[in-house]
Amino acid sequence: MLRDQDRIFTNLQGISSPTLKDAKLRGDWDQTKSLLARGRDWIIEELDRSCLRGRGGAGFPTGKKWSFMPKVSDGRPSYFVINADESEPGTCKDRDILRYEPHKLIEGSLLGSFAIGAPVAYIYVRGEYVREAKILQQSIDEAYEAGLLGKNAAGSGWNFDLYVHRGAGAYICGEESALLESLEGRKGMPRLKPPYPAQMGLYGCPTTVNNVETVAVVPTILRRGGSWFASIGRPHNTGTKIFSISGHVNNPCNVEEEMGIPLKELIEKHAGGVRGGWDNLKAVIPGGSSVSVLPREICDTVLMDFDSLASFKSGLGTAAVIVMDQSTDILKAIANLSRFYMHESCGQCTPCREGTGWMWRMMERIVQGQAIKEDIDLLEDVAGQVENHTICALGDAAAWPVQGLIRHFRKDIEERLSAGATPAI
Ligand code: SF4
Repeated sequence: MLRDQDRIFTNLQGISSPTLKDAKLRGDWDQTKSLLARGRDWIIEELDRSCLRGRGGAGFPTGKKWSFMPKVSDGRPSYFVINADESEPGTCKDRDILRYEPHKLIEGSLLGSFAIGAPVAYIYVRGEYVREAKILQQSIDEAYEAGLLGKNAAGSGWNFDLYVHRGAGAYICGEESALLESLEGRKGMPRLKPPYPAQMGLYGCPTTVNNVETVAVVPTILRRGGSWFASIGRPHNTGTKIFSISGHVNNPCNVEEEMGIPLKELIEKHAGGVRGGWDNLKAVIPGGSSVSVLPREICDTVLMDFDSLASFKSGLGTAAVIVMDQSTDILKAIANLSRFYMHESCGQCTPCREGTGWMWRMMERIVQGQAIKEDIDLLEDVAGQVENHTICALGDAAAWPVQGLIRHFRKDIEERLSAGATPAI
């Protein structure tokens, strides 16, 4: 369990205000100038030492990502882009950073931009986060007034500008290359990779895209040292993490905990336990709606980190824990997610455009008990044809919940089909 002195987000519940004055009392903007004075290489080395992995879902090592940026410009400017388009169902961690701890993100943006040599950064905020974008903008204005942003930011000699850009509510704009398209004023459609953003990103220039939580933890890591962060959690799964716990629990919440905490402990200690007790648990989606659902037996022992969840063919994703008790119609829950991914597909590639709709229609037939037993294998086959055969990860995100359902709840599907057609609700 995370010790209080190791907590990074001390205002995650919004007890005190997000203003610069209160943020400074919490330790933000402390010694920023001297952190910058230690140079780009030192910042990246500390991040490497911390073993910080991206908190947006993919878990790519942050220090490594930053090291891909050119050290010497070929004439093109570099950009830093922060992904605040938090749209994965169940996920609401970045929202609390934006509205309660915005200065951690702003200070992290300055340090990150300096480390990758980008004098300009954009924070792309989900369109629905109206109040959050407003608070963020007010905090940026405060930072400009205090000389922490702009020319000679924080007295460092580094000139840095930070802009908020509002999205329009499309889930796909959370995919980094679609986000860049949208930021450039076009329809949010993912790009083929390579080239990767570090070679050709925003406006065709070298760009790094990071998630809000990833950037917001950087100042504390630099102040306390990469080794401190690496000492929390397990090897390759280090540091603290914000978990969003929702669904059939007594106290849904966002909580910062040690990476690798057992799922059962996380739910029981912080979310007041499963409604009706642990024995009433049916399943958990541990990392936002796109990862595979886990049945109760696995939930008893699984650890909440990248490697442990991957060993059960699921994933940490955004660490949004969706809890479902025995009252859940698990087939209907997954069908609902299939509908979501069909709706959010940008339609560029055939397996995703056609496959997501096909999977949803088949899931609906299964929910209604109108499919036949052979359809289960057919559905699994189609999900396999969508997975890994698309431009971006939305195809995988649509396939994994269905595959997880078949892997762990085939019996439930078979029982529904042998019971025959059920009336539509
Ligand atoms: Fe668009 Fe889906 Fe292809 Fe992604 S996988 S590019 S969302 S069609």
